[in-house]
Order: sequence, then C-alpha cells, then structure tokens
Amino acid sequence: MPSLFQPRLVNGPFEDPGLFIPFQFERRAMLFDLGDLSRLPPRELLKITHVFVTHTHMDHFIGFDQLLRCVLGRQKDLCLYGPRGFIDNVEGKLAGYSWDLVDRFTCRLALHLTEVHADRLLRRSYHCGDGFAGAGDRLVQPFDGRLHAEPCLAVDAAILQHSIPCLGLSLAERFHVNILRTGLEELGLTPGPWISRFKAALYAQVDPQIEFTIEPGPRGAGGTFTVEYLTRKLARITPGQKIAYITDVGDTPATREVVAALARDADQLFIEAAFLERERERAAATHHLTARQAGELAALRKPAASRCSTSRRATRAARWSCYWKPGRPMIGLWPASAADISGRGYYSGHEICSRRPCHSSAGCGFGRPAEPQLKLNRYTSCSNNNPYQRSSD
Ligand SMILES: [Zn+2]
Repeated sequence: MPSLFQPRLVNGPFEDPGLFIPFQFERRAMLFDLGDLSRLPPRELLKITHVFVTHTHMDHFIGFDQLLRCVLGRQKDLCLYGPRGFIDNVEGKLAGYSWDLVDRFTCRLALHLTEVHADRLLRRSYHCGDGFAGAGDRLVQPFDGRLHAEPCLAVDAAILQHSIPCLGLSLAERFHVNILRTGLEELGLTPGPWISRFKAALYAQVDPQIEFTIEPGPRGAGGTFTVEYLTRKLARITPGQKIAYITDVGDTPATREVVAALARDADQLFIEAAFLERERERAAATHHLTARQAGELAALRKPAASRCSTSRRATRAARWSCYWKPGRPMIGLWPASAADISGRGYYSGHEICSRRPCHSSAGCGFGRPAEPQLKLNRYTSCSNNNPYQRSSD
C-alpha cells in the first residue's frame, strides 16, 4: 500500500517502546516515544522533527538525552509533545547539565515544547544559545484533540489513564498521491522538484483551474497545464495511511471508548501489552494491559478488509508471534496487523498460538475469536476530504 510514512519499532518487544516514522522521499521523520534510542544511528536521529511522548516513565523518556546530544549544535527546530507535567520534566532534564559552552555554537538548536491537558495546550520554547533558559511564559492554547497538522497529515492525541495521564496517538495522511509513470511518458515529462510542488498544490486544495508551470528538464519537456489536467493525467490519489499508537493504559470502559475513537480506520495499530492474561490482576493494579486486552482493543476497530489480507501483513504477524514467550510476562508492541487478517479480531493471534500450543497454556489470551464491534468506512471519509478524488477511485 503506498504511504507517505513507513513506521517501524525502534526496539524489540522486550525493550523500550518507540516508533520511528520516516517519511518517503524526505529526509525527515517523526518519533512516538523516547525510550532507548541507541538502535537509531545519528543519520536517523537527525531526521526527527517531531517527538510525541506518551508519558514520562523512564522506559518512554530516557532517550531524550540521546536525541538532545545528537542534535545539539545543529541548526534545527525540534518539536516535542507530552502529557501533563511534560514541560517540568524536560526542564528538569535540561537543568541537569551545564551549558556554559553552548554560546560557541554557530548553529542554534531550538526546542518547542507542548504539554497536553484535557482542554488546553501549554507551549514554551527553549534555545541552545541561552542555555535553554526558556523563552517567555508558557502560552496557553485550546486543545480539541489535534496536536499537529500539516496540509498532508495530522497528529491527534487523546488522554488515557495509566497511573499518570498517558497520551494515545494517531498519525493520519490526508490522502496519498502517486505519480503515474505512464502519465509522465504521455506528457513527455521527467520527474523533478516540480513533483513536490505539484503534490503541495493538491494538498493545499488550490483552484483546479489554476495554471501550473513545469520547467523543461534535461531529458523532458516542460509546459504549463492546469492543476486539474495534470491531476487527471499524472496523479493516482488513494486514501492515506493512518497509524495509531497506544502504550501503558488501564483497561477501563473509558479507555476502550477513547482507543476505539482514536484508532478508528487505522491501518496499523500498535498497542503495548506488559502482562499475560493470567496476570490480569497485576496488570490492573499497575494500570497496564494484558496481551488479551490489547487484542480486544485492537478488535474494536474493523479494518478495511482489502488492506489486511496481503501476504506482507501476514508475514509481519508471524514475525511478531516469535516474540511471544510462554510462561513469562510479555512486553511487546502488538501490531494490529496481526489481529487484522481477514478482519477477525485477534483470531489470527489464536491461530499463531495454535502452532505453538505452549502459548495457549501460558494464558496469552488468544484463545478464541472476538467479533469486531465497529463498522467503519474509511474510504468514504477519506474521499470526502479529497477534492481531487476521481469518482472511479
Ligand atoms: Zn508507564
């Protein structure tokens, strides 16, 4: 499935959580959670522009120092988001170092922090040049669920209840634009920077009749066309990808309602499960999910069947199954793709377990199928937002 971003877990399922989300054709990435980042090389860390921290327990936040050390001395704006107390937490981290040498840096790093409350956002910026003293007071802005928006994507958040407030996150591409090679050949055009401009025009919803000029390339002709003509000839527009990310939360009716809404229509859903089903009481006492509860949450959203039946997804599900260890707590991020196959809730998880019977006896919770409880139509909602969607798509 074509997508603007290609998320991948930073670490193995028994290690710190973190989802690295690089963007296709861009030297840019987002990061969900700041656990141990030692597996990400500097060239990957330097791509990160936005970091969303679900909560500041150590396994979700210890990577802050690694990231800061890598970007220090760079000309960079880094945006970080986190739940209640996040600004104090970051200020505490920054206060832990001596910054007497930073005025020698010619490149200036800036950190832009956003703290998420139920009804408002607190924002404050920090600059390397003054030792991260903090610029001005904390700005207060209303919060309606949207943390970050660009013409092509949006990041939404909901506040979930762990032992402390914990953010659930989603990242959704508005729609996806593929450039057709056959269209390029027909018009005698060659790929170039103009493609980014053209895609930006589509996301900006410019007037379809506006003229768009393409400069001649070394091997291709240029020309001036209307955006509508180029779209018809060159662009294949499909629904965008959505991913959702849930970490440490207690399983309550409120949690289920919020997760179902946040993960609605998600193509991939990552859920952290810290305990086996037989440790349900311990999970409840510490406000974590069991593997079974994670599977049940995954089943709350019904995926588009055509998205979930590919062999690639089946392969991914099988790979994750290798990490399930019988007779010990499971700490892993459970991808919904494992639960999605054929849209049968976590039934596919049971099938994987069945090939290794010890899993079932260990009480991993994947013993019977669950019926998806939501019926959703992702394609309808996407096409409503897309003025360039062809009627046949
Ligand atoms: Zn936690």
